[in-house]
Amino acid sequence: MAAKTGIVVSAHSADFVWRAGGAIALHAAMGYHVRVVCLSYGERGESAKLWREQGMTEDRVKSSRRKEAQMAAEILGCEAVFLDCGDYPLTAGREVVFTLVDHFRELQPTFVLSHSLEDPYNFDHPLASHIAQEARIVAQAHGHKPGEKVLGAPPVYLFEPHQPEQCKWRPEVFLDIGSVWEKKRAAFECMSAQEHLWEYYTRVALQRGNQAARNTGRKVTYGEAYQRVFPDLVEQLG
Ligand SMILES: [Zn+2]
Repeated sequence: MAAKTGIVVSAHSADFVWRAGGAIALHAAMGYHVRVVCLSYGERGESAKLWREQGMTEDRVKSSRRKEAQMAAEILGCEAVFLDCGDYPLTAGREVVFTLVDHFRELQPTFVLSHSLEDPYNFDHPLASHIAQEARIVAQAHGHKPGEKVLGAPPVYLFEPHQPEQCKWRPEVFLDIGSVWEKKRAAFECMSAQEHLWEYYTRVALQRGNQAARNTGRKVTYGEAYQRVFPDLVEQLG
């Protein structure tokens, strides 16, 4: 395992690409081992284009979405794991939380990425975030599988939902993803089931890049934004 690691908990198999592809590629390029845990393939709710094909079945949608996500993960330089919990609605009981806890303990991630805490358009997203945070906390508990190395307190960053205002999400941390933008765009393009989102998320990256530049005085073209869950400890204020 690499010295530094990160974990991304994605409700559906493409969410990590639109919302965190830049962060993943950036950290992978810095030598981090990043693992994306996809709770579902988004087979029912986020694969409309595939369902318009004649004779489509849920299994075929799943295998197609899995292939796309694997290709995207390869481009971004991360590992992808699929838990196949089902989507619309995502269903995840204790077993799924415990599986995620095992990932947290094995990886000992230095950061955690997941969805916004609210999303009135998509209840799978906040549920995925809830499960990720619950697993993080169980992984910190000495009474869970005593003797294993418990997790420290990696920061949790919430990636950008599709309609931030309704999700009560706001940008608090910007990442300059200019150096890996081509990889993120190439990973987008693996998602042929959601071609309608390619240009949309290119505009989001440009918008966040512009805001990152305005808030810091630095030159940024493509950005990704995150909301923090917990306060940070810094050595100095400026
Ligand atoms: Zn999703």
